Amino acid sequence: LAFPAAPMTAPVRYTIQAVHPAAHLFEVGLQLDDPDPAGQVFTLPAWIPGSYMIREFARNIVRLSARAGRQELEVTRPDKHTWQLPAGIQGPVSLRYTVYAWDLSVRTAHLDQTHGFFNGTSVFLCARGHEARAHLVDIRPPVGLEDAGWRVATSLPEAEGEKGAAERYGFGLYRAPDYDALIDHPVEMGRFGLAEFDACGVPHAVAITGRHDCDLGRLVEDLKPICEAQIRLFGEPAPMDRYVFLVMAVGDGYGGLEHRASTALLCSRADLPHVGLDAPSEGYRQFLGLCSHEYFHTWNVKRIKPAAFVPYDLSRENYTHLLWAFEGFTSYYDDLMLVRSGRISVADYLGLLGKTLTQVHKGSGRRKQSVAESSFDAWTKYYRQDENTPNATVSYYTKGSLVALLLDLRLRVESGGGRSLDDLMRVLWQRHGQTGVGVAEDGLFALAAEIGGAETGRWLQALVEGTDELPLEAWFKRVDVALTWEAAAAAPGLGVRTAADGDAVRLANVFDGGAAQAGGLSAGDVLVALDGLKVNAGNLDKLLARRLPGEEVEIHAFRRDELMHFAVSLQEAPRDTAKLSLVEEGGSPAHLALREAWLGG
Ligand code: ZN
Repeated sequence: LAFPAAPMTAPVRYTIQAVHPAAHLFEVGLQLDDPDPAGQVFTLPAWIPGSYMIREFARNIVRLSARAGRQELEVTRPDKHTWQLPAGIQGPVSLRYTVYAWDLSVRTAHLDQTHGFFNGTSVFLCARGHEARAHLVDIRPPVGLEDAGWRVATSLPEAEGEKGAAERYGFGLYRAPDYDALIDHPVEMGRFGLAEFDACGVPHAVAITGRHDCDLGRLVEDLKPICEAQIRLFGEPAPMDRYVFLVMAVGDGYGGLEHRASTALLCSRADLPHVGLDAPSEGYRQFLGLCSHEYFHTWNVKRIKPAAFVPYDLSRENYTHLLWAFEGFTSYYDDLMLVRSGRISVADYLGLLGKTLTQVHKGSGRRKQSVAESSFDAWTKYYRQDENTPNATVSYYTKGSLVALLLDLRLRVESGGGRSLDDLMRVLWQRHGQTGVGVAEDGLFALAAEIGGAETGRWLQALVEGTDELPLEAWFKRVDVALTWEAAAAAPGLGVRTAADGDAVRLANVFDGGAAQAGGLSAGDVLVALDGLKVNAGNLDKLLARRLPGEEVEIHAFRRDELMHFAVSLQEAPRDTAKLSLVEEGGSPAHLALREAWLGG
């Protein structure tokens, strides 16, 4: 293949092509008209916004060469993310490199003979100093698969007016106003199922790759009201001209990443709706919740951003204490929008909310780390979880969503239904989303005080920066919802979470203060026998169910290759499973009105 041949009319131009799908290689060409005469620098991001972990995408660049005209240029490497050309180059330069794409996730790039997917952060080097200029990309058909019927799905706008401009879903030229936009529109190519719909006048598309039997009509029937409910929450017009859901269906998988006008989703094909599906299955509810979550980010984090992300520094960690608001509030609204738009029942919604409460209460980490700290440490803790995670950390997603719930209930109750979290979101949108001004680290407390009074601001700050139990029961009562805590099972517990390891039972987590920890067992231990009887993945709970709290049992387990013996005093199973229900009798009309406004929108 030749170096990208000229005439595209933008100062920074790329070509990208699946040159060897079986070897998972994209080839990228980059042409720059006026490189820095002091020595042009190119960098690749170290992380992708929305996924707060240093991933060093440069590790997948296989081979890179540079030229000025016919002259091959020497490229130096100041650091692992950076390539630099010699000083004194006049006139256009071009780079050519290959990218290894074999990570089946929404965060990087993936290519084989069935499809190709990439995020710009994995494939497009940034020409430093030229970030603010127009960028053009020529997305070319895959080599050897020219007749395979592949199409292109992306929210990247077609380069209208350019020679070779792509048609909708076609290969050809696409355009981005700057580098930041270029890397915020992932691209899917292959033979995908496609459905289109309008939400409040904005064209939307869903492209599903991978083997699947999705009932696209049903999916659209459910997605459209969710999207419309969100657009109306923030106010019309919607901030994007067009929106694309890029869905990869696999046997077993789950993930999503938000972008300014699209989202990349990974799901299990069994979670997609099939023809004849009546009420949503649990898996489909979860998939709709994921779509709703990523869609809500179109406002909350893609446009309303922490000041720490304005602009992103893609070379290193960007620290903020606010992920509880950007991920937590988004997690609160994702399922709430399902019930408000009539996709799930109130009973289903309370079931989902109960699961979130349970997740937060399973780990004692909630008493040690605040959601503000959890946000700050996302890079080293939330994104790098280990066996001790439940004992040491709290999730800014789950606990953050409960903080949002409490703030919503408090604003509603204290204003007699006049105010809610929706008002706060709209103010965030007007002051920050529409202006591009980042939210200060204490911005949410100030805003809560402005909307709900000074005491509400202080109270929110205490919830966010503290580790006390959340006052859930009290606020649920004000909307006639009853919260009770039950044990997950009647049997006494070991205080562990297990994982099946073939037929063996491995301890995945050993909870602080639990029976197993007191008896000396550790995460990673593989249970062999309980009171001399072989333990396997199917019988542990049955063996424990015949015992009483306070009894001592003898456990044999392997730690590495060493057989060890433990005396474990069984404990009563903790009441950490939340059950929520509507108070049907003896409730007050005022509470009922608040509850209906909350869940009915
Ligand atoms: Zn999110």
